[in-house]
Order: sequence, then C-alpha cells, then structure tokens
Amino acid sequence: MDTIRLRDKEFSLFITEQEIREAITKMATRIKADIKESNPLFVSVLNGAFMFTAELMRELDGPYELTFARYSSYKGTSTSGEVKEIVPLQTDIRGRMVILLEDIIDTGLTMEFVMKKLLDEGAAEVRVATMLFKPEALKALLKPDYVGFEIPTDFIVGHGLDYDEMGRSYKDIYKLNE
Ligand code: 5GP
Repeated sequence: MDTIRLRDKEFSLFITEQEIREAITKMATRIKADIKESNPLFVSVLNGAFMFTAELMRELDGPYELTFARYSSYKGTSTSGEVKEIVPLQTDIRGRMVILLEDIIDTGLTMEFVMKKLLDEGAAEVRVATMLFKPEALKALLKPDYVGFEIPTDFIVGHGLDYDEMGRSYKDIYKLNE
C-alpha cells in the first residue's frame, strides 16, 4: 500500500518491510560482535518496540535474556518533566549490561530519563538500540549505540508505532502527509 488512512490523517509509504529487515539484520550482526560472550539483559520498551524486538531477537538467534518495561512518553517542554514507569522491570539489573530496545528516539528525553534510572538502580552499563532516530529533534544528552534508520523530524506510524493507538500492525513504515 502506498497510502493509508488512520482516523483523520493520511500517511504515505516511507520505509518498506524489506528495508527494515535488512537494517535489523545489520544491527544484530553489530550487537553480536560487540557483546561477544557477555550476558546482557535486553529490555524492550513497550508498546512501540514489540515488533522491532521480535525481529531483532530472532536475528540475534542466541541464548539472550529479554524482558519488558513500559514508561509514559515524555510530554512537555522542560527537562524537569517526570517520565512515569507504567510496567516496571521485573529483573535485577545490578552489575549488568542493559540494552534498551526502542522503536523511535525523538527528543530523547524519555530514553535519557530511563537510562539514568537504570544506572541509578545499579546497571553496570546501559546501551540503546533504536529502530528509528530523529537526530534533528534530539534535546537530550544521549547518543543511541545502535540505529536502524536516521530520519527527518516527521511523524511516523507502522511497524509497532501508532497514531492514537491505530496502525501498529502495518509491516511497513509510513510518514504523515502534511
Ligand atoms: P522522545 O522522548 O524521544 O521524544 O519520544 C518518546 C516516544 O514518543 C517514543 O517512544 C514514541 O512512543 C513517541 N514518538 C516519538 N516520535 C514519534 C513518531 O514519529 N511516531 C510515533 N507514532 N510515536 C512517536
């Protein structure tokens, strides 16, 4: 499909399933080379990262430990805003390398908050793997370690990402038509 409609908005095809699969395969190869024999804890950040998580973990095709967490996304303009933990981590992270799996980094304020929180709770190291990254929107002090695609500051849906809870199950990625 070249265009889709979700509620009152129209979106155009932006990144195909095939391109996403290739980017995830490359990312998995890099992660495997970096972590070698160590035992990181992969933490998938719900809801948007569910599809990316499944695909990346399949490509990693190893004995890795995976768990899930959910945070409210950052809303507001000042860095004093709190990000709420909606589904807390169920695993003891003290002394461990954590690799956060995210769908998209926009301002980066959510990830900055989550990374700090996990380090405060005793993680030895926190890395971030994100399917999509909007470098021009970044407001936080962070650099994702693994990036599928760098994209302009557009609103994206599909492949796990929603518009008002619609559109997560499209296999391709779509961009809002202005
Ligand atoms: P950040 O804290 O980096 O600004 O964004 C955090 C969250 O905002 C992301 O995890 C995602 O849920 C949401 N978000 C940011 N940009 C987009 C986008 O283009 N499309 C969708 N569907 N969600 C987005």
